[in-house]
Amino acid sequence: EREQLKALAGLPAITRDGTSLTLNANLELPREMEGARDAGAAGVGLLRTEFMYMNRDDLPGEEEQYQELRDLIIAMDGRPVTARTLDVGGEKLAGALADRFATPANPALGLRAIRLGLKEPKLLETQLAAMLRAGAHGPIRILVPMISNPSEMRKVRELMRAVARRLLRRGHAIADPLPPLGAMIEIPGAALAADSLASVSDFFAIGTNDLIQYTLAIDRGDEQVAYLYDPLHPAVLRLVQFTVEAAGRAGIPVSVCGEMAGDPRYAALLLGLGVRELSMAPGNLPLVKRRVRGLDLREATRRAGMIMSQTDGGRIAALLDDFNEALG
Ligand code: PEP
Ligand code: MG
Repeated sequence: EREQLKALAGLPAITRDGTSLTLNANLELPREMEGARDAGAAGVGLLRTEFMYMNRDDLPGEEEQYQELRDLIIAMDGRPVTARTLDVGGEKLAGALADRFATPANPALGLRAIRLGLKEPKLLETQLAAMLRAGAHGPIRILVPMISNPSEMRKVRELMRAVARRLLRRGHAIADPLPPLGAMIEIPGAALAADSLASVSDFFAIGTNDLIQYTLAIDRGDEQVAYLYDPLHPAVLRLVQFTVEAAGRAGIPVSVCGEMAGDPRYAALLLGLGVRELSMAPGNLPLVKRRVRGLDLREATRRAGMIMSQTDGGRIAALLDDFNEALG
């Protein structure tokens, strides 16, 4: 079984009826690249750069971040790397930053992620500079966490352009053209306004971990309410579906990079909803790839349609079980 899964790394992620899918890896640190490569990832769908800020007393500077990203990009050898800007706050605290900012009364709803980056543009500029410079060595995409509003995307894009001009003046090589700039869809309001966000985004990445947390008002780290944390809640599925459709209408790519994408049972449903790109912990890639290779996409689309016409979570789960048994 182990050997079988290992052999999958070299095989294409293609459905039984011939559609190619993109299965990417989520990384916490750039130097974890080997896990992604060994598992046969098509690219890095999510690099959680905040981990470069954790377990230390100082902040990583532009040069350090540039070098780490550059090494990752070179190691990925032409496969795209999606670097997310700092996503701290809530359950993710970074040593040197925790000291500088008061913990909000409600960290999940407070000054976190891109809100922090826009309040402290120096933080964001350092990251954007490192990313733009690393992008001179291979394909990079820049992803912005916790977007709730198109104006946030516009501000980040302006900042990226200003940083690019400054780097060029300083004589640095940078990504040319400038990298695609994407919005994470992980707030219900962002999903419901996905049409307006699509007009200012080059791609979407749906973060189901936070999307579920905010949609159902369930702290993702709270054991006492974990039983209510349900990826199959119709509200969650409808938000995912709407986002995927909005991306389709706008002609921009959309991926799913929450834990849901790395579970073969849910992956089948996500593909049926029109998602063609999934990003997950490297360890989940073989199982999801095996699922994908056994899947008939037309059938998956039909089954997803049936599931989406249901209003009851239990019924949805039962239909999904049938689906996975029939096509396992
Ligand atoms: C998510 O929210 O689903 C996500 C991928 O981001 P993180 O888990 O880092 O918050
Ligand atoms: Mg998130």
